Amino acid sequence: MEGIAIRLRDLRKSFGETTAVAGIDLEVRDGEFFSMLGPSGSGKTTVLRLIAGFETPTGGRIELAGQDVTGLAPFERDVHTVFQDYALFPHMTVEQNVAYPLRIGKVPKAERLVRARKALAEVRLEGFGKRRPGQLSGGQRQRVALARALVGRPRVLLLDEPLGALDLKLREQMQVELKELQREVGITFVFVTHDQEEALTMSDRIAVFHQGRIEQVGTPAEVYERPASPFVASFVGTSNLLEGEAAHRVVGTPGTYSIRPEKIRILKESADADLPEHTSATGTVAEVVYLGDVTRFLVDLDAGGRLAALQQNLETSSADVAAYRGTRVRLLWHRRHAVEVPGSR
Ligand code: ATP
Repeated sequence: MEGIAIRLRDLRKSFGETTAVAGIDLEVRDGEFFSMLGPSGSGKTTVLRLIAGFETPTGGRIELAGQDVTGLAPFERDVHTVFQDYALFPHMTVEQNVAYPLRIGKVPKAERLVRARKALAEVRLEGFGKRRPGQLSGGQRQRVALARALVGRPRVLLLDEPLGALDLKLREQMQVELKELQREVGITFVFVTHDQEEALTMSDRIAVFHQGRIEQVGTPAEVYERPASPFVASFVGTSNLLEGEAAHRVVGTPGTYSIRPEKIRILKESADADLPEHTSATGTVAEVVYLGDVTRFLVDLDAGGRLAALQQNLETSSADVAAYRGTRVRLLWHRRHAVEVPGSR
């Protein structure tokens, strides 16, 4: 059986009148890359700070590796936090920065140096040890912060939007590297982000936060393909819901259905859509957006409601797309791709 790195039980935190965390139960497994995903203000950072011990819970319990740490100080917990601003010491060299936690931990000097160099090699920064943080790029500073976090081999690494300050290209590169690094070192990573794509790319599992609660925990595929609530369906991936009367008319039963845009095929209105296990609906193209690899169509259905559908740009060029606006089309999808979203009105 896999071990549990972190267990939260009915965890709560209020700041005066504001409820930041409204009762959370969660288990993060040993060695997992676990993301906490949610919009600004949904309570992710507060949960991270509670796990680290920087905040005291209003209620509930925090266990690390089976031990109740709810009342322990941060330094008594086997976790390390990487902040978005990296918090490096500007007057120290890279090596000294990385070795710092070991110095505090009274590790002998020679060993400190060996371990700092090893950590720097892990984040691919060999040869940078003698520089100061001011002489590094943003991405390199990020790696130093990671090396410093890894050097003491904590059981759990907490990362609060660590890639937030990087530009998009570097960010995408660091996503891949961070995931590889996590796999190599085998440490449990808990990663806070508001970027759903980032969470989908990197995580073994994701918890989706909304208003101080967790609405769903699952693998990226589970969260994307089987959203457990209307909020998850709209926050993760493009919101594409068929609701109310439109759902009733098109799907045949009332409810709210999520259909991911890439699961929908766009055909001529006159196309034969009489395929087994498929559903089709006619409509008028309201908007067409050329996105390079794909084109996104927004279609107003005759039955009511609007759906987005993606089409691969095998032949299309940006010059063609405007001509589709206002045309009549038929949307087609396999029945299993219209996923009923629980908990909707
Ligand atoms: P973001 O992505 O913007 O960091 P978040 O999901 O991490 O958002 P939190 O920072 O955990 O959200 O904040 C949750 C709620 O708690 C917000 O309403 C916030 O204003 C409030 N809050 C957080 N810290 C404090 C504090 N120290 N004092 C008062 N209110 C706070």
